[in-house]
Amino acid sequence: MFVRRAFASKFRTQLLINNQWVNSSTGKTFQTINPATEEVITEVQHGSAADVDTAVNAARAAFDGPWRRYTAVQRANLLYKLADLIGKHKEELAQLESLDNGKPISDAKAADLPMVENVYRYYAGYADKVFGKTIPMNGPFFTYTRLEPKGVAGQIIPWNFPLAMQAWKLAPALAAGCTVVLKPAEQTPLSALRVGELIVEAGFPAGVVNIVPGHGDTGAALAIHPNVDKVAFTGSTEVGLEIMRNSGTNGLRRVTLELGGKSPNIILDDADMDMAIAQSQFGVFFNQGQCCIAGSRVFVQEKIYDEFVKRSAQCSITRKLGNPLDPATTQGPQVDEAQMNKILHYVELGKKEGAKLLSGGKRWGNKGYFVEPTVFADVTDDMSIAKEEIFGPVMSILKFKTIDEVIERANNSIYGLGAGLVTRDMEKTIKIAHGLRTGTVYVNCYDVFTESTPFGGYKQSGVGRELGEDGIMNYLESKTVVIKTSNDTL
Ligand code: NAD
Repeated sequence: MFVRRAFASKFRTQLLINNQWVNSSTGKTFQTINPATEEVITEVQHGSAADVDTAVNAARAAFDGPWRRYTAVQRANLLYKLADLIGKHKEELAQLESLDNGKPISDAKAADLPMVENVYRYYAGYADKVFGKTIPMNGPFFTYTRLEPKGVAGQIIPWNFPLAMQAWKLAPALAAGCTVVLKPAEQTPLSALRVGELIVEAGFPAGVVNIVPGHGDTGAALAIHPNVDKVAFTGSTEVGLEIMRNSGTNGLRRVTLELGGKSPNIILDDADMDMAIAQSQFGVFFNQGQCCIAGSRVFVQEKIYDEFVKRSAQCSITRKLGNPLDPATTQGPQVDEAQMNKILHYVELGKKEGAKLLSGGKRWGNKGYFVEPTVFADVTDDMSIAKEEIFGPVMSILKFKTIDEVIERANNSIYGLGAGLVTRDMEKTIKIAHGLRTGTVYVNCYDVFTESTPFGGYKQSGVGRELGEDGIMNYLESKTVVIKTSNDTL
């Protein structure tokens, strides 16, 4: 295959520790697979607990040493340089992302790469704009606060947006002055390692960014390392809960988590029908449905229910499945066989529990992990497909009558990451947006991410917010300095 040959000599497959590319101490490797063809792309070094220890020690030494003496402007300049290099190599990075993850190249180019560059630039700009306060105190004291970097950050990222998740984690941490050990997902390590090369090229000092690929065991070793001050994790709620439980093992680490979702998307009967169809399809099918915020529970008001259901099924079959490297493809494969099987299992559950399958529902082709865009109608709140995160191209449509009813049903979930709403009515918009217990509410749009707006969840969707000002605050500690002055100081 052309792309494989074009990349073959260039894949980075080792660990990046102290700005050196090294093999795993155990010699163990793992395969990364092209999900569109099921072919092995390459073997990647599997970081062991001993490698994590070496990487954390390198990050600690860099934090205690040279990196602490970099000014905020110097850190910003390195981040700008990295953003420039990512921009320069965006075509190659988009291809690598598409090859390893399976996402359509057109999405990688239009959505992922611009977001990645913007995130690095945004936090470069933030580095010298974090301020403490001067605080009036009772007595002869001059008191101020300083925002200081938390220290060594252990960052564990998923496979659904490999480059974007790396940027969301690295950029604020480095802008704040932390050092990092990052573990990419085992399904998609290649783009993270390529960015590792660009980090070295940009001139970050040794030990500031260390990248240790591996499976869950590598992540687990990082999450409980005593020299890690802060853990940032994006992935399943199950692993997130484990990291939270373990945050007090071997010391106490600060933890932020961005986990699963089962986001409601509410279509009111005054909605522009064309917009409602386009918004809801994008909300659930974008990125093969592999979005934590996917609007997978579509609540439709009864007056327009029948028309919405009919048009949703018709629209879903217009998606173009195929080779993700073909610019005309709009839906690629799921990331791996396990995810494909999990989705097909939920489709069977949906049918068994009485939902009406309107389109899709099967594997597409017999090579690659493709799943047809799938639409279920007549879904009820108690069904598994309405309660559990499927993480695939499966839309569940539910009927509702009143605004109060839909707010209550939308909130009846262990998750609270996002929600959508399509309406032309401002009063209803505000009532619903304020009534939903979710970290984001999209009105007449969906999946609009920007570097400046906080992102994260209520309930079991996570702890804390990424991006925007909140994103950098995750990596800063507030220190109070109290200085005694003479009694007659004004
Ligand atoms: P996962 O949570 O197992 O993996 C995410 C990351 O955590 C990977 O880097 C993985 O190696 C690492 N990891 C795994 N076990 C760990 C442990 N015990 N300690 C520390 N790190 C560990 O997710 P998955 O198995 O790849 O996917 C399962 C489900 O998780 C999906 O079907 C989906 O529902 C959800 N998911 C959510 C997101 C999101 O963006 N919120 C992303 C990926 C997956």
